[in-house]
Amino acid sequence: MPTRLAPVRTCTQCGSRRVGRVGTDLRLRDGTVVTVEVDACSSCGEQYLDAEAIEVVRLARARKRPRS
Ligand SMILES: [Zn+2]
Repeated sequence: MPTRLAPVRTCTQCGSRRVGRVGTDLRLRDGTVVTVEVDACSSCGEQYLDAEAIEVVRLARARKRPRS
């Protein structure tokens, strides 16, 4: 059996292992849409934001804040 080097992600919602990277549009509370890559389950649609995706959202929020 070949050794799998890539980590196998298992969906915590439905137990499916069909979890892969997808690009998705997230809408922030102020209406800003940011595109991030997340791990998403293709069975139930559950999305898992990793640290990188969360950082993208955080930066988008900070950028959007109006200066006065
Ligand atoms: Zn799932």
